[in-house]
Amino acid sequence: MKTFLIASNRLPAKIKRSEEDVILEPSVGGLATGLRSFYQSYDCSWIGWPGLPSEELDGLEDKVAGLLEQESCVPVHLPSNLLNGYYYGYANRTIWPLFHYFQHLADFDSRLWESYREANHRFADTVASLAAPGNFIWVHDYHLMLLPRLLKERLPDCPIGYFLHIPFPSFELFRLLPEREEILDGLLGSDLVGFHSYEYARHFLSSALRLKGCDIELNKVLVGNRTVKVDVFPMSIDYDQFSSPPDLDRAGEIIKDARQRLGDRKMILSVDRLDYTKGIIQRLQAFELFLERNPALRDKVLLVLLVVPSRIAVPQYARLKKDIDELVGKINGRYGGVAYAPIAYLYRSLDFPDLHALYGMADVGLVTPVRDGMNLVAKEYVTAKSNGRGMLILSEMAGAVMELGEAIMVNPNNHGQVADAIVQALQMDEEERETRMRAMQDRIRRYDVTRWAEDFTESLDNCWVELRQEQAAELDPEEPGKILEEYLKAENSLILLDYDGTLIDPAEDAESEAIDSRLRDLIISLTNIEGNTVVVLSGRTKEDLEQSVGSEDLNLVAEHGVWLHDVGGKWRMIAPLDNRWKEDIHPILRFYADRTPGAYVQEKDYSLVLHYRKSEPDLATIRSSELLEALLPSASQMDLDVLEGEKLIEVRNRDVHKGRAALHWLEKKRWGFIMVAGDDTTDEDTFRAMPDRTFSVKVGGGHTSARYRVKSANELRSLLWRMANKKV
Ligand code: UDP
Repeated sequence: MKTFLIASNRLPAKIKRSEEDVILEPSVGGLATGLRSFYQSYDCSWIGWPGLPSEELDGLEDKVAGLLEQESCVPVHLPSNLLNGYYYGYANRTIWPLFHYFQHLADFDSRLWESYREANHRFADTVASLAAPGNFIWVHDYHLMLLPRLLKERLPDCPIGYFLHIPFPSFELFRLLPEREEILDGLLGSDLVGFHSYEYARHFLSSALRLKGCDIELNKVLVGNRTVKVDVFPMSIDYDQFSSPPDLDRAGEIIKDARQRLGDRKMILSVDRLDYTKGIIQRLQAFELFLERNPALRDKVLLVLLVVPSRIAVPQYARLKKDIDELVGKINGRYGGVAYAPIAYLYRSLDFPDLHALYGMADVGLVTPVRDGMNLVAKEYVTAKSNGRGMLILSEMAGAVMELGEAIMVNPNNHGQVADAIVQALQMDEEERETRMRAMQDRIRRYDVTRWAEDFTESLDNCWVELRQEQAAELDPEEPGKILEEYLKAENSLILLDYDGTLIDPAEDAESEAIDSRLRDLIISLTNIEGNTVVVLSGRTKEDLEQSVGSEDLNLVAEHGVWLHDVGGKWRMIAPLDNRWKEDIHPILRFYADRTPGAYVQEKDYSLVLHYRKSEPDLATIRSSELLEALLPSASQMDLDVLEGEKLIEVRNRDVHKGRAALHWLEKKRWGFIMVAGDDTTDEDTFRAMPDRTFSVKVGGGHTSARYRVKSANELRSLLWRMANKKV
């Protein structure tokens, strides 16, 4: 059975003080309920804050640990000063408002950040003390965004999944965060990062691309030598729990009270935690407009406004509570009578039977957050209306819209539209209402919270299997082991080295005279060793390559295999080639370059290249895929290869590639040792053309068929120096 370690800010059970003792209470809420069945079917431990600051547990820590152990929970104790900076501070005063597009409320204070870091480190210590190699780790939510990286460093043999329960904002918002790179680094420590919606995943990928310059292949981010998968898993609810009829015997006084007040009026239900993201003020304003515009309906409806106390220690929440109180008072004062008020306002948390009964009674569910990662209330309300006699009004800004498209959609800031939607929901004919509700219910039933959890964990499992299958062994240049051993044993060695990205790093080493001359020394030293044949293979033109490494004493390949140069010889073409195709292809490439600022076309003897390293990354991605599509028909007609390299697209004669050029040397004799090093897709041709016993080395991250991997050009050069110095 798999072992799972779940880490979230809160545990599924919380500790409460009673006199001199402590007791354990189950936590309500999406995550705890959602993961219950999953939690019971695996060997799981749940790591989190137990709900009380550590100083309030003085002397009772053992008792707390014992109680929690019975629930397979492990506490991370946090003192109140740390909680203030981490939980009430950075998590809820910086990340929460910024990620929900309330930029003006975000508090950018480095002291809060320090607490956040400290708390994440404490979580990491606890998780690391419990984990064994092969354990699966699932980290939850915005409180613990640094945790995946901290854990990956300490537990490289544990698959790590991370799920964000709130929106991931657009790059324009995310970039405002002073600690944006640390946060991205933290998340990219995961093997799988999950979001509620495609939009959030897209924003995350865009930030990884723009801020970290990560390479992205579809939904995979290449981070150094690792691949991080990004995917969408819309969280859901326990369908069976909400679809069963409400247990009215267990429902309390509040429901009897509501029945009485309701009489034959229609009930509109609004349920939220106290939060500015929920759009409660805007909703009340829209309801007021509805009352104003529809005098005939005034005494026919009751808005039940349930607001659950939340984060009241954060000043903005206390202010919001005051604003809601005042607005409810104003509306009830203006539109109410002696025996009737249009809004029944409850400021408390209800337990399940009461909430379920309210869902069952409500004719309209009014769910209009101004921004919400998902919104489970919308799904719960729809599911609870098993008789089909209800209608959901849903904000376009809730993550749930992707699955609840049959609701009446509104922009929560458009009060007139919300007021009209209330009328539409109240007057919708029964058949239409039922058809819409059934369609939504079916969708929620098919992808309930258990499916959600299984989907995520299966996906993490698959990522891990894939990663291990494709992973080239990491090579320590200081301890190269078998490579060096075989090289020293061999009487003759073939060493094939790609140039850009492999021997030099285009970003760090380019135009560095010192690197160029040291590199030349290195290649010459290796070449001069008896029995060695060293070949430098490049996509550059022969003139360009000569200028960088010289030519006289070297074996060289230019233009990806069009031109060959043997030591002491002259440049010659690998085969007679025709380049009349350039007349047709050049205008196409130029057309795309002109429309992409920063891009340009390079003409080589037998190929054409569009470079877009300096272009805006998103535009370059769009243009390059458009260009690939535009080139396909001509390329197949003219027998050309279209190749995607590092920030470039190259068109060249088919069957001319580095792999074919490498064969020129490979076939010269029976080699005792063969080594090939490369960094991009053009080098994969060489890896594949070589016999199985070849020591193929990939430089940097990304998919590869190479057997080994080093992190950088610098590391490869260190390895080659060792090879040059050991055999003189
Ligand atoms: N809820 C509750 N008692 C209440 C009101 C709400 O247990 O009195 C629950 C509700 O059933 C839902 C959760 O609180 O599962 C709210 O989740 P949602 O995604 O709608 O909003 P969040 O509070 O997570 O932002």
